[in-house]
Amino acid sequence: MQDAMTPRQRLDAVRERIARACARCGRKPEEVTLVAVSKTHPAEAVLALHQAGQNLFGESYVQEALPKMEALAGQGLAWHFIGRLQKNKVKYIAGKFDLLHTIDSLELASIVHKKSAALGLVQPVLLQVNLAHEEQKAGCGPEDAEALARAIAGLDGLRLDGLMLMPPWDPDPEANRGLFAQARQLRDALARSLGLALPELSMGMSHDVEQAVEEGATLVRVGTDLFGQRPCAL
Ligand SMILES: *Cc1c(COP(=O)(O)O)cnc(C)c1O
Repeated sequence: MQDAMTPRQRLDAVRERIARACARCGRKPEEVTLVAVSKTHPAEAVLALHQAGQNLFGESYVQEALPKMEALAGQGLAWHFIGRLQKNKVKYIAGKFDLLHTIDSLELASIVHKKSAALGLVQPVLLQVNLAHEEQKAGCGPEDAEALARAIAGLDGLRLDGLMLMPPWDPDPEANRGLFAQARQLRDALARSLGLALPELSMGMSHDVEQAVEEGATLVRVGTDLFGQRPCAL
């Protein structure tokens, strides 16, 4: 069904879902930015979606992202990094992404800070939180979020813009609504206690974008519904 749609039709359908969710909760569609998650999809697919009107793309793997970004350089695309970031890969991505969604430790934050500061840059980042206390899952626990956010905000090579949430997978789009609301509350509490704006809340994927928007998402990360199924379970 989706595979029969053109990139333009897929993009319009996702934008329409976001707009309707905004209308239901009294938000403006401009408050929500769509990150098109292009991991595993080739540069040609990214270009086709760009030509349909999408400028911002999200990538998860450094080795895959860099050649793709290189191939599409000069076309006016913007990129976010949304995958797990290994410390030894930070040097390859410094200065290349407008936002890193997945900072979750002071050690990782310090490395990004050093590489960015060395280039004379300030790297916008999000703190990834793990609100379901999932073992082996990226993200800091809610109990550590304030200390970590405070430490990150103190690094002048970084600018902390908000929080990112990747909840446990559940086919029921309503399953994570409570966690989306908790993420918003945590963001609001941190903004107050740290005296920072923290405007961004990155949450919601193909199947639960509406719920995330209704609970306050400002960045939604949609892959499958824009590009079709990924070739493997990534
Ligand atoms: C792959 C991925 C997405 C997109 O998921 P879809 O279900 O394909 O929309 C969103 N966020 C992160 C962190 C991802 O790795």
